[in-house]
Amino acid sequence: MAENHDFYEVLGVNRKASADEIRKAYKRLARKYHPDVNPGDKSAEERFKRISEAYDVLSDPKKRQMYDRQGFYGDAARAGQAGGGARWQPVDFSGFDFSDFMGGEEQASRGGGGFRDIFSQMFGGRSDVREDQPTSGSDLEYHVNIGFWEAIRGTTVRLNIMHYRACANCNGKGVTGGEITCPECKGSGNVSKAMANMRFNVTCPRCHGRGKIQNPCPRCGGEGRTSEPEQIEVRIPAGVQDGFRVRVAAKGNAGTHGGHRGDLYIVTKVSPHPFFERKGDDIHTTIPVTITEAALGAKVEVPTIDGNRALLKIPPGTASGQRFRLREKGVTSLKTGQRGDQYVEVRVHVPRVADERSKELLRELAHLNPENPRAEVYRQVQG
Ligand SMILES: [Zn+2]
Ligand SMILES: [Zn+2]
Repeated sequence: MAENHDFYEVLGVNRKASADEIRKAYKRLARKYHPDVNPGDKSAEERFKRISEAYDVLSDPKKRQMYDRQGFYGDAARAGQAGGGARWQPVDFSGFDFSDFMGGEEQASRGGGGFRDIFSQMFGGRSDVREDQPTSGSDLEYHVNIGFWEAIRGTTVRLNIMHYRACANCNGKGVTGGEITCPECKGSGNVSKAMANMRFNVTCPRCHGRGKIQNPCPRCGGEGRTSEPEQIEVRIPAGVQDGFRVRVAAKGNAGTHGGHRGDLYIVTKVSPHPFFERKGDDIHTTIPVTITEAALGAKVEVPTIDGNRALLKIPPGTASGQRFRLREKGVTSLKTGQRGDQYVEVRVHVPRVADERSKELLRELAHLNPENPRAEVYRQVQG
């Protein structure tokens, strides 16, 4: 970059050379000095840089005019002054047949990893991908709170969701007929692309070099879908648990350009109940009993989720914390249709006695039953 080379000299053309002559000269020289056909050759690389720089200016009528007038071109001069290492100027490869470099298709394929490969890697093969291709819409997930009883009996939830729907203006197509100048390349059919510290002009990926695109729908901006609110009703089946996912087909996001529509998932959050504790399809409860009931045995009424009371028989000598099962008094399973069980834990309620008569009776009871309940514990500790 240090020396200022004459661009006409670099390309080996005279000052009156036509655009076509400049282009041909550039192609010939670029083929000869490209770094990829001269690996590791610093002077060839330097030469290629100068060729590219010269061609960038001389191939552009405005830049060429400026260069002819002042003897240098602005960008190149600044890059040289700044001394910020190699700054390669834009190179126009649009419309190039890269097989020219290798002298034909057979040679390119025989060489393995020739120009064609290098350039398709550089530009990511993106020009093959059409921008207006349909893409699938995503699934959506909404969390809803439902009551304890609603989860057991089933319910219908109404919710307002926001999702992409196919654009009503263009029916999801994204275009409304007619053509406009491509906004990406301003109609030129080429755009500038950066790769390492090189810039290349490549075929515009938006219009594929046509310079025009189909008129995008003004409502959806060409996407074919718009974000819309929708009020929906979802039936929550009886027996759902906390974290259950209800799938609502095709109520997720619409894809772009009429692509497949995603699903909506409703995830249930079930409120707890102060008495009934739900564990899967089983119900867990704790019921207080008196000392007398626990000691003598009794039939106690236990509330169930059916809204009535089941009769639980506790045997004589029932301990606090002992657990009983009421068969098929749990929740009807969503999967099997079978009911779970209800577990009842007994908690012995100890009375606070204040009157002398009650105290006397309890002392008498203790006298009649001198057995020490801690004896077993002491034996174990002595072991
Ligand atoms: Zn374009
Ligand atoms: Zn539209």
